Amino acid sequence: MKIITDLNWMEADFIEASKFFENTEDLTVVHAHEETKDRLIDKISIGGKEYSYEKEIVANDDIEKKRYVKRYAKLALYKSLSDYLNQNLVWGALTGIRPVKYAYSIGDNWREKMAEEMMVDESKLDVIARIIEEQKPIYQLKENNCDLFISIPFCPSRCLYCSFLSNEIGKEKHLDAYVDALVKEIKSAKPLIKNLRSVYVGGGTPVSLPLNLLEKVLKAIGKVDCEYTVEAGRPDCIERQTLELLKKYGVTRICINPQTFNDKTLKIIGRKHTAKDILDKFNLAKEFSFSINMDLIAGLSGESFEDFKYSLDTAISLNPDNITVHTLSLKKGSKLKETTERLTEGEISKMIDYSVYKLINSDYHPYYMYRQKYMAGNLENTGYTKKGKACVYNVDVMEEITDNLACGANGVSKKLFISENRIERYGSPKDIKTYIEKIDKIIEDKNKFFITSD
Ligand code: SF4
Repeated sequence: MKIITDLNWMEADFIEASKFFENTEDLTVVHAHEETKDRLIDKISIGGKEYSYEKEIVANDDIEKKRYVKRYAKLALYKSLSDYLNQNLVWGALTGIRPVKYAYSIGDNWREKMAEEMMVDESKLDVIARIIEEQKPIYQLKENNCDLFISIPFCPSRCLYCSFLSNEIGKEKHLDAYVDALVKEIKSAKPLIKNLRSVYVGGGTPVSLPLNLLEKVLKAIGKVDCEYTVEAGRPDCIERQTLELLKKYGVTRICINPQTFNDKTLKIIGRKHTAKDILDKFNLAKEFSFSINMDLIAGLSGESFEDFKYSLDTAISLNPDNITVHTLSLKKGSKLKETTERLTEGEISKMIDYSVYKLINSDYHPYYMYRQKYMAGNLENTGYTKKGKACVYNVDVMEEITDNLACGANGVSKKLFISENRIERYGSPKDIKTYIEKIDKIIEDKNKFFITSD
């Protein structure tokens, strides 16, 4: 689709808002925007059909007005494409990765506004309403609340769909030096922490570190009095000693992520373990009374609806505290993007619809949700929880209601300015060697970032 608009700064938003319409390859859309003193007029022309939308301007300043112009121009584009192509999208004209954060930002009557001004489907609004309800005991927008993230970007092998920063641990020459630099950064970050809400050690697969190095990291984090998650990730990295070590250092929650319970798919995506290994390691972890999350992916290459259904039903039968259902995301950098065929959006939608129905009817409650840019289909990732077991870290990060102190390569720290409704970010280098070499400068810059932005 070709979009010609006289609001040049809207081009990226228009592409985002229209990318999930089908059969648009040969379409040209022309958009003209006009403003009177108190009204916006958006005229859209598609294949000889003319559309015109008018809206009264309600804005207190230029920033608010720009947001208003953007929202109604996108809505005009969505409405005209929806009419011309006779297609409705479940997320309507809503773009962006945080639909729940958006709902909070528009106030009490968010549901009516998202239905009328964004044309979001009722099924999605229902899930958002359930999420807001589930977040109530956790949601806290308060200065100085913070979460600590520790990045261990190593895995035993690289999964075919992976688009994270993940280095094959067996090939890493600087592992000891990385952990030393990370420990230094963690120690220097501690005085910056005011009200710690959660710790999340992620990656990568943190438990792929040799036990002595993992212990160094856990020791540096020390005793905390809040939710403490470690991504145990893949069963090929989980041994009894690993779990004993996590328990010893006060970890309260782990993630064991099958992605699928089908051996055939595990092989295709580059995992070197079987579904039985996942079950064995899950049962082993249960002995330690961790809160457990399991991730699944809808839309993995070669999987039918029945395959996905089998994986979801198996995960539910294990009764973990949290189950997160992802839709396959094909970012640049994932081998899967180049090597395998994608399922159609209809098939993946069926999987997601089934997961919502089945999980809600199995006493799991949706508690956070996000969308991704390169997602297969116009869908979303949703975390589900048993009552009262929602992960604080996921809520804080998705709704952006706390500072985030991130340590390690590729860590992105965030500082919130609640009264100004803005966030500042500080990112560390992705490259392991650069991170190690620059650690002192990173620590200095990050201290300045947090202290001077107070
Ligand atoms: S376990 Fe996760 S981070 Fe590691 S390679 Fe697989 S998808 Fe990437």
